[in-house]
Amino acid sequence: MSDLELLQRRLERERSARKQAEALIEAKSRELFFVNEELRRLNENLEELVAERTAQLGERSAQLEESLSQISAILESISDGLLATDNDGLVVRTNRALERLFNVDEGALGRPVAPVLGAAFGDLFAAADEGELLRGGRVELELPLPGARIGKVTLRAILSLGPEPAAIGRLLLIRDITREKEIDQMKTDFISNVSHELRTPLTSVLGFAKIIRKRLTESVLPALPAADQRAQRAARQAADNVSIIVQEGERLTSLINDVLDIAKMEAGKIEWKREPLAIGEVIERAFTATRALFDQSGLEAVLEIEPGLPTVEADRDRLLQVLLNLISNAVKFSERGAVTGRTRLDPERGEIVVSIVDTGVGIAPDEVGAVFDKFRQVGETLTDKPKGTGLGLSICRQIVEHHRGRIWVESTLGEGSTFSFTLPLRDPRRLRTRTVDLPQLLARLESAAPLGGARSERPLVLVADDEPHIRGLLRQELEAAGYRVVEAEDGLSAIQRVKESHPDLVVLDVMMPKISGFDVAAVIKNDPVTMETPIVILSIVDDPVRGDNIGVDTYLAKPIQIDALLAEIRRLLERGASRRRVMIIDDERPTLEQLHRLLETRGHSVVAVWDAREGIARAKALKPDLIIVDQLVSDQHRLIQALEFEKELEHVLFLLVAEGSEGG
Ligand code: ADP
Repeated sequence: MSDLELLQRRLERERSARKQAEALIEAKSRELFFVNEELRRLNENLEELVAERTAQLGERSAQLEESLSQISAILESISDGLLATDNDGLVVRTNRALERLFNVDEGALGRPVAPVLGAAFGDLFAAADEGELLRGGRVELELPLPGARIGKVTLRAILSLGPEPAAIGRLLLIRDITREKEIDQMKTDFISNVSHELRTPLTSVLGFAKIIRKRLTESVLPALPAADQRAQRAARQAADNVSIIVQEGERLTSLINDVLDIAKMEAGKIEWKREPLAIGEVIERAFTATRALFDQSGLEAVLEIEPGLPTVEADRDRLLQVLLNLISNAVKFSERGAVTGRTRLDPERGEIVVSIVDTGVGIAPDEVGAVFDKFRQVGETLTDKPKGTGLGLSICRQIVEHHRGRIWVESTLGEGSTFSFTLPLRDPRRLRTRTVDLPQLLARLESAAPLGGARSERPLVLVADDEPHIRGLLRQELEAAGYRVVEAEDGLSAIQRVKESHPDLVVLDVMMPKISGFDVAAVIKNDPVTMETPIVILSIVDDPVRGDNIGVDTYLAKPIQIDALLAEIRRLLERGASRRRVMIIDDERPTLEQLHRLLETRGHSVVAVWDAREGIARAKALKPDLIIVDQLVSDQHRLIQALEFEKELEHVLFLLVAEGSEGG
């Protein structure tokens, strides 16, 4: 083969190889084109998706922003002040109302509560019971706000939403109730003025109606000739009619008392007593007092009182008032069945639970919450005749809450209601008992204070009241009871009469022109000549503590209960000037109670004081013959040192009662 041929063949081979390569390239680039195409499409899709998602996100965040600003607007437009903290107690949110109330700005954020709102609020946060808040509880109280305003403050935990809520901070709500308080005060003043105005004439109406009834039945009826049937019938009818006047008058009195009671409680004007009580005994007492209601209604009274309950410290009369209210409601709203008084000790919470259970009409679930409201009568009030004032339960709640208890009702419509309240047990440290050598103590007292004194046949009573009707009423009743009577129409002449005629006893009205009854009493009790003259204060001004401080012997509320007054006058005159004044200062129950009872049965006048500081003040006013005080209390308060150099107390005998013995 020639060289040329060889070259040609090689060229031929190369050409075909190139063709092959070209075909391959073409195939590959076609493939590449498709891949590219695919990628472009994917890319387009992705871009679409991203655009879509971005739009959605934007919408969401706009929504979120809107609802956030809605929440903010809501918080800002709440008229209560609002402050939220995180779990470390640092402020994370306030609203405009709060900023205005406390004159703070957004600079409050991130700071603790005390420097922002004041120490009282810091204390509130610090003292709140963590566990209670986490259980959804809240602390509610009134606190002073800047600018002499008063706030109702509520503190609670902010709990996260979800199946297992956790605390994420604290929420404080503050409502400015200054105006409400003012209105409340105006209302209270108005009510007590009106009640006063109502009670004065009511006293005359009731008093004279009772006298008429007595005269009719005791003097007129027996004197009528038996033959004169018409006169007999007319007189009897008149006596019956007068009885209705008396009944209705008494009902009116108790309504007025209810209204006044609630007004005073709300205004914090009630003087609360505190004494150790066996609650079972108080419940029994309440059931005994309502026996007539049970007899009339045919309902059964059942007592389920746990034996051996510890004592509670409470105001006996007020507790009785609660029980009487609950029992009479139970009877009032039950057609048949029984009313049960039940007690239960809850050692865990340290309280006694008292329940009054009835089998009556019950209360609808949506009305259960309302029954404790003032003037609230639930049920068909338009068709049923009103059965009360709607104040009873509201009064009960105030009394129970004053004792740091709770009151509530559980009820099933048509089956009955259970009203329950709790009373916290006394501090167990106080339950310690001690013994006192009583006979020795009495011997000392009586040897230091010989008894004696005789009295004239017909004691003279001074009646001081600016209402001529009331004086007339009292004169008639007192003379009928065998006393001689002198009258005084105001405070000044009362003092004169006391000096001139030396009455054996003085009956004083408080509200008198020129000099009030309290001042007259103070003058009498501060004059050595007249200081032993017993004083009975009759008043619509309910301030027995003030009377007690002056040394008034008895304090009776108007309208006058003549029988109670006569009994009291008899008691005081019998005891006469011969009794000794004893003051007991002790904060331990058994000692106090025992001594008190014993000394009183021996005819001494005993004033018990719980608190040493109060004891010092009272001793100065009362000038007792004997002060009995617990050694420990005396030491703690340097009581003897405080009193022994008081003028007029130099001759006071002190008895110090020590643990397990007596000395002094
Ligand atoms: P009232 O003077 O009207 O009895 P309360 O405050 O004592 O006022 O009671 C308020 C209302 O609660 C009553 O009018 C009655 O509707 C309802 N209520 C109270 N006790 C009971 C009860 N034991 N059973 C059913 N309803 C009751």
